[in-house]
Amino acid sequence: MAESKNFIHNIIEKDLESGKYGDKVLTRFPPEPNGYLHIGHAKSICLNFTTAMKYGGKCNLRYDDTNPVKEDVEYVDSIEEDVRWLGFSWDKRLWASDYFDEMYECAVTLIKKGLAFVCDFSGDEIRANRGTLTVPGKESPYRNRSVEENLKLFEEMKEGKYADGEKVLRAKIDMASPNINMRDPVIYRIAHVEHHNTGNKWCIYPMYDFAHPIEDAIEGVTHSICTLEFEDHRPLYDWVLQAVGKWPTPPQQIEFARLNITNTVMSKRYLKAMVDEGTVDGWDDPRMPTIAGLRRRGYTPESIRDFCERIGVAKANSTVDVALLESCLRDDLKTRVESRNVVENPIKVIITNYPEDMTEELPLENNREVPEMGERKLPFSRELWIDGDDFMENPPKKYFRLFPGNEVRFKGAYFITCNEVVKNEDGSVKELLCTYDPTTRSGSEGANRKVKGTIHWVDAATAVKIRIRNYDYLMVEDENGEYVNNPESLSESWGYGEPLLGEAEAGDRYQFFRKGYYIADSGLTTADEKVFNKIVGLKSSFKVKK
Ligand code: ATP
Ligand code: MG
Repeated sequence: MAESKNFIHNIIEKDLESGKYGDKVLTRFPPEPNGYLHIGHAKSICLNFTTAMKYGGKCNLRYDDTNPVKEDVEYVDSIEEDVRWLGFSWDKRLWASDYFDEMYECAVTLIKKGLAFVCDFSGDEIRANRGTLTVPGKESPYRNRSVEENLKLFEEMKEGKYADGEKVLRAKIDMASPNINMRDPVIYRIAHVEHHNTGNKWCIYPMYDFAHPIEDAIEGVTHSICTLEFEDHRPLYDWVLQAVGKWPTPPQQIEFARLNITNTVMSKRYLKAMVDEGTVDGWDDPRMPTIAGLRRRGYTPESIRDFCERIGVAKANSTVDVALLESCLRDDLKTRVESRNVVENPIKVIITNYPEDMTEELPLENNREVPEMGERKLPFSRELWIDGDDFMENPPKKYFRLFPGNEVRFKGAYFITCNEVVKNEDGSVKELLCTYDPTTRSGSEGANRKVKGTIHWVDAATAVKIRIRNYDYLMVEDENGEYVNNPESLSESWGYGEPLLGEAEAGDRYQFFRKGYYIADSGLTTADEKVFNKIVGLKSSFKVKK
């Protein structure tokens, strides 16, 4: 995993060569604790942790909790569980809010250097004077307040003398800068809001663009990896650290393209709305692109890490086909889960020439690709269930499964011929009267005879009834090509499974033969009722680009 190289690694290797940070590499994953992590975060997690590992460095988990309004510590546990589940361990666990004192000191330093001023403009006035991409901004009339006055006003802001929005602290940079982020950006604002960590100690809070570089610098981060939308903020990141002047070798911000995936959304805010509105059944709903949702759906950490590795790290935004994620999952599950027979919409088969009181235990391989995974014994007797899709009374051409007069192979058992269809009063199929050819038992000479169709089956006497939850994508394109919620993203069915499925425990994964990969749902499975999530089908529609 750590073998591949991307442009971020190239930058780090140059820095190691020049000794910019000595031999040190320190990265961080900095979530804002305002929601559950999603697969976009997984990309950032994989990148930060594997990059540090690759160079013998370390990676911290830092909560970016400088915005008191939106944050909720409820999310902290889930974030830590998710990072660990993905297979990573952080060096230190840190809180940006622990640096509020130091950030305040940094702001005072800027004021003393004449590089920050208290501005009485409202948010609207600041916006109105900011200019545009083609027109420079106008300097605030408060820009030339003396250092003494600024120090006094900033302290009063801190002491709670002013209401929210009455004053802000702004960096004094350049209102004519072509980069709007550099036009005297706000670095502190007043918010009389309690903070989960610092309580009511503060009523002023630092803005992200001021806080983030200082957080990185305090921790000694060498390479601060973030997403592309912060590229235009990098001059401000560098300006803050240079202007404060406390750190001789400040961290280097590096941007990469954020992950987008088809048929889903990648924004905590939007995902939270879905949870709050009840569109989905919680943050860990198996349809959600959250790590918790993917985990419950049946994704493995290995498959997600493999996906993050395969999509690579780019400098340009793009949208990845969800089919690639599914294909990574299939590749992983293919060689690690056992096969089980399950039939849905079952149809009863009675083998009229099979002895009434006989049951055979027939061996079936657990995983066709991995012989070392051995085999299990399946009971086979006179009454069986087959899948509703494996029988047609009036089949079209090229239908090779069971139909009246046709013979098929029952996988691992015998060749079976359908002789008669018994109907219910309403005309539906009640059962199929069939005969078996005793000379065709699986593994024997007679089983070499050619037959076109192979289907699977479950012994009726020992079958276990299971519930199955089938998922479609959370979002689908409407006629204008816009993504909208898919009203049919969940459907339930039921089926009969072979007896071993009665022992399935929450989290156990299987391949249901000829159907797909399934996991016993961790929320709904009980000792008495087994509920399976369909993880993914067997076949991929995804074409790997050659
Ligand atoms: P959201 O918009 O979903 O809330 P965010 O960027 O605000 O995402 P943070 O908690 O601030 O979420 O992000 C923590 C880290 O994860 C950041 O470094 C951020 O750049 C990264 N990250 C978030 N979303 C993605 C994504 N889709 N692809 C790659 N990295 C991401
Ligand atoms: Mg954010």
